[in-house]
Amino acid sequence: MKIGFIGLGNMGGPMAANLIKAGHDVTGFDPAGTPDGIRAAPSAAEAARGADVVITMLPNGAILRSVADQVIPAMQPGAVLLDCSTVDVESARAVADQAQAAGLMALDAPVSGGIGGAQAGTLTFMVGGSDEAFAKAAPLFDIMGQKAVHCGGSGNGQAAKICNNMILGATMIATCEAFALADKLGLDRQAMFDVVSTSSGYSWSMNAYCPAPGIGPQSPADNDYKPGFAADLMLKDLRLSQQAAEAVAADTPMGQRATELYEQFVEHEDGTGRDFSAMLPRFEKRKR
Ligand code: NAD
Repeated sequence: MKIGFIGLGNMGGPMAANLIKAGHDVTGFDPAGTPDGIRAAPSAAEAARGADVVITMLPNGAILRSVADQVIPAMQPGAVLLDCSTVDVESARAVADQAQAAGLMALDAPVSGGIGGAQAGTLTFMVGGSDEAFAKAAPLFDIMGQKAVHCGGSGNGQAAKICNNMILGATMIATCEAFALADKLGLDRQAMFDVVSTSSGYSWSMNAYCPAPGIGPQSPADNDYKPGFAADLMLKDLRLSQQAAEAVAADTPMGQRATELYEQFVEHEDGTGRDFSAMLPRFEKRKR
């Protein structure tokens, strides 16, 4: 396929490289420069011109909207605008409407799996949009990822992503505060892990990404809490969850509290640039 790839940062760069490795004809654009091995266009519109699929991997919804304004007029009818960024549901739906009004197909397909997953081609895509658009993009999901779940119409990929990450933020905090409480009660961390990981308190945060160094499988806790999944990105996703919850008047008290705690950690403590599981040393240091 002829592919335009806009936004070649930590995630977009390796995703585009995997498409090239698989034999696709990729032209990229990023104002910060194009990584080696990816043919560069002088603008987003030029990268999009004549492409079968235009992929965007951008920081936020405002930038996505501005890039959409540039690329949609340059795209050929029937082409797919495939946004893999994590953005607010409202921007995802607005951009999809704009693309469809111009005779294009649109998909929102945020990912989980992080930079390692982007490099290894093992991302999970959560996808919103039509069956036809999903079928056209499916071979690309197979290259860049190991799983793509079609979640329904436009915006539903973003909805799935923020609901998942709202659960993740809240369970990571619950896991970390429980470890810190266990410490203060004199309960050994290994014993705590052995019980919880096989009992009803288990979760991905405990079992697969244990925030306690030296306990459970290898995780960022074993590497001085270097991300992994940065607390800053968790805060971004939690904020998106609360923005969405407000828009539809959903009551999300745990999501709200998790947002407040990550905001405190990132903006007023030492959380920025650390893995999101570094909430454990934070709780260790604190008193009630
Ligand atoms: P990044 O900052 O490394 O990359 C974003 C790129 O977009 C940058 O290179 C930037 O120059 C480019 N850009 C900015 N404005 C642009 C414009 N107008 N036109 C074209 N390009 C423009 O960020 P990233 O880590 O690659 O994340 C990208 C998206 O993926 C975000 O929405 C993020 O939330 C999401 N995401 C990231 C991770 C992760 O672990 N990094 C995991 C899952 C999802």
